[in-house]
Amino acid sequence: MLEGKDKDKTPLDKLGEFGLINHLTEVFTVKQSTTKFGIGDDAAVLNFEDKNVLVSTDQLIEGIHFDLSYMPLKHLGYKAAVVNLSDIYAMNGTASQLTVSLAVSNRFPLEALEELYSGIQLACDLYQVDLVGGDTTSSDKGLYISVTAIGHVDEGEAVYRNGARPNDLLVVTGDLGGAYMGLQVLQREKEVFKVNPNSQPDLEPYSYIVERQLKPEARRDIVALLNDLEVKPTAMIDISDGLSSEILHLCTNSKVGCMLYEDKIPLDPTVISACEEFNLDSTTVALSGGEDYELLFTIDQKDFPKIKGNPNLTVVGHMTEADRGAHLISRNEQSIPLKAQGWNSFG
Ligand code: ADP
Ligand code: MG
Repeated sequence: MLEGKDKDKTPLDKLGEFGLINHLTEVFTVKQSTTKFGIGDDAAVLNFEDKNVLVSTDQLIEGIHFDLSYMPLKHLGYKAAVVNLSDIYAMNGTASQLTVSLAVSNRFPLEALEELYSGIQLACDLYQVDLVGGDTTSSDKGLYISVTAIGHVDEGEAVYRNGARPNDLLVVTGDLGGAYMGLQVLQREKEVFKVNPNSQPDLEPYSYIVERQLKPEARRDIVALLNDLEVKPTAMIDISDGLSSEILHLCTNSKVGCMLYEDKIPLDPTVISACEEFNLDSTTVALSGGEDYELLFTIDQKDFPKIKGNPNLTVVGHMTEADRGAHLISRNEQSIPLKAQGWNSFG
């Protein structure tokens, strides 16, 4: 779709590397006092005084993590930023800076990268973070994006994966499975379009789940909420790969077991109806779907009254001694061992 159809597109080699970096980044303004010097020297200079610094990196590779036939570049830029910020929030931290590294082929004109950067800029504005650097290089064919998020947390306030204890409650934010079902809808429309390029997809009934796939949000609000409620989770992780594999990470790192109750897993009605339409089991989708970028955390039982009734938070189970293992308790009260890919593999 990007192959030089338009004569008015600007080839990247017209700008040169420095011209390109300058063009893409000059509109970004500094928001954080921790940013002493951003783009333009050999390294950014950040000053966190007495804070602990958090650093997290993720790569996105065309054809593996995204498909440009249904992922607009602006959304891709936004998502690349947001999924990295999510990792900082999952440590109970405050995100403050990003670096963005690109490998890009000459099949992309300048205008495509401007779109990508407009999404990155939107995320920087919404989440109040500074773009402070990156790297730009060429690739033979695809687009590769690597984002590093930097943040900070007060001494003693970081929440790791290893702090859950038996009897802690297991809590999930928001609802699950939407991003995966949004992807199913987009992939189906892509196939329809291949057969009939004149077809006009009606995505309106699926807008919630399509948005969950194309424009996920990181739960910065939950870190603030827990702080306001004076609840410090004992362990926390973000849900990038599906509930099941994230629970297993908490269990392994914390050396505990878990009981997860199927009937407690939060699902949006659109996810349930899309699952019916695609003949998929909604529990399997929540367990194995991934990309929801909700937070999963454990809390001491004594903190339950503080979170009770909050519409953003759902208690889905509790932790046990390690030797009990990690199980899903199904609606008909069967105990099914959790596997990294859910208990009922896609097929
Ligand atoms: P160096 O040769 O020291 O690696 P570069 O020429 O790669 O420096 O980068 C110059 C400046 O531009 C640096 O501040 C770098 O962090 C920044 N930069 C490079 N590529 C990007 C990018 N894709 N997005 C944002 N900043 C970038
Ligand atoms: Mg460089």
